[in-house]
Amino acid sequence: MNSDFLIIGSGIAGLSLALKAARLGKVSVITKKEEVDTATNLAQGGIAAVLNSEDSFSEHIRDTLKAGDGLCDENVVRMVVENGPARVKELIDIGVNFVKEKNGNLSLGREGGHSKRRVAHAYDLTGREIERALVESVGNNPNISLYENHMCVDLITEDAKDIDENVSQRRCVGAYVIDEYGEVKVFLAKVVVLCTGGAGKVYLYTSNPDIATGDGVAIAHRAGAEISNMEFVQFHPTCLYHHQAKNFLISEAVRGEGAILLDQNNERFMEKYEPDQMELATRDKVARAIDTEMKRTGADCVYLDIRHKGSAFLQERFPTIYNKCLSLGIDIAKMPIPVVPAAHYLCGGVKTDVHGRTTIGCLFALGETSCTGLHGGNRLASNSLLEAVVYAENVYRYCESNWSSIAKQKNNEAYHYKNGDKEKIDEEILINHNWDIIRRVMWNYVGIVRKESRLILAKQRIAEVRKEIDEIVETFQVTPNMLELKNISLVASLIIDASLARKESKGLHYILDYPATEVE
Ligand SMILES: Cc1cc2nc3c(=O)[nH]c(=O)nc-3n(C[C@H](O)[C@H](O)[C@H](O)COP(=O)(O)OP(=O)(O)OC[C@H]3O[C@@H](n4cnc5c(N)ncnc54)[C@H](O)[C@@H]3O)c2cc1C
Repeated sequence: MNSDFLIIGSGIAGLSLALKAARLGKVSVITKKEEVDTATNLAQGGIAAVLNSEDSFSEHIRDTLKAGDGLCDENVVRMVVENGPARVKELIDIGVNFVKEKNGNLSLGREGGHSKRRVAHAYDLTGREIERALVESVGNNPNISLYENHMCVDLITEDAKDIDENVSQRRCVGAYVIDEYGEVKVFLAKVVVLCTGGAGKVYLYTSNPDIATGDGVAIAHRAGAEISNMEFVQFHPTCLYHHQAKNFLISEAVRGEGAILLDQNNERFMEKYEPDQMELATRDKVARAIDTEMKRTGADCVYLDIRHKGSAFLQERFPTIYNKCLSLGIDIAKMPIPVVPAAHYLCGGVKTDVHGRTTIGCLFALGETSCTGLHGGNRLASNSLLEAVVYAENVYRYCESNWSSIAKQKNNEAYHYKNGDKEKIDEEILINHNWDIIRRVMWNYVGIVRKESRLILAKQRIAEVRKEIDEIVETFQVTPNMLELKNISLVASLIIDASLARKESKGLHYILDYPATEVE
């Protein structure tokens, strides 16, 4: 399979880039499940940008830097914020229906850490609306071929020679891809882009969809690309706590509309932790407060109370949340919502420059799988959809400017992945058992509040599991499930190593052994 661009992933990052890249050449998009199986499709709150005259770039920049706890790249923050309005307009131009006020202006939501209302939304179905418009546009583009149930196994890299024939850098020329029948194919391309989303599945409790197994980070790491900031995992403070609800998020926008947090005795507790910002403090602070309260009281959850807004408002503003909760017997207009924190967003990832380039030639990373410098130690809510569309434009612009030299590249066609020679795995329990161990170890030892001794224990446990997984992968034919396990175990060890290396509490990395360093 040959194309100009190989884009791995069909969320906002992959599809936004595909539409632009198709102006330059043939684009293959591969996605490991169905096209809409993405975190993008689940995004509720919306996309942050400066969208009216009451807001300003300097305030959005300040809020982003503050959330990032001194670790953001300020130039990147400025670039992303200043490009935000144009990218949101582009989404509207391809048919995304953001909600408007009666006067025709965009209706803007407010979320934790934002000093202004600046989140364009489609009620609490923003991601679904964005994904719908992108999928439709991609489907109408003859230059884009989309392959569902095609999972990237590994990248294919070569030594790249400079003009004096010296090896100067590794260059990515394509990927091994396993299809739904278990056949591993070779996809070659001049530009390869990892848009594989996050890694929430590394933790027992997560808001993320099943696809979020950190594949892009693991694949890039195996290929030798630089990975950074893996210690910064964002836990969303409020996932629905109900035995029948898998990964259901209660959007930050609910707190933005005035919901308060209560303990099991109906007492509001945020004033003990964040007396100024209360429930609208950044996610790390709210998640830590909830975690502390749950540990202190031994309760399984806390409660989010938005009853005072009344049924009519809640049904209109949060139809999905309202109906989902109601289907589980929770009328949010009449009773508080039981919630727990859950792994939500990976701030670290494959390190890129401002053009989205990784440290491997012709390999780019985009969206949640990348680490651009925007989020620093903690992502400001609703900045991730923004980051994906801004960097899709940057990757495209870079490729457009350098297209004559990129297009000249000739790829060796002699690649082959040996899979068929091995026997098929006959006991799925070998895989599922290890999944469970990893996710529990990460939740219990590498969660919201960390301790060096627990991190060391986690490192040992994950190393043992990884050894066993390596043996399984060596012995049997690879399957998507096996690959995800291998990837998630590698990502777990990257998170642990990065957490052990950072000897301070910063942003989302809160470690009891070292005093917090709060930056105002
Ligand atoms: C419940 C929820 C609510 C959120 N709400 C918001 C919000 O309101 N605002 C905001 O800014 N952010 C929000 N986020 C975060 C945001 O949705 C994500 O960061 C963003 O959508 C990521 O987009 P992406 O394109 O990078 O990845 P995704 O949308 O997750 O897409 C990843 C794609 O990669 C594919 N893939 C993965 N591995 C492979 C592989 N090995 N081979 C082939 N394909 C692969 C997947 O199948 C998928 O198609 C939310 C996240 C969640 C989970």
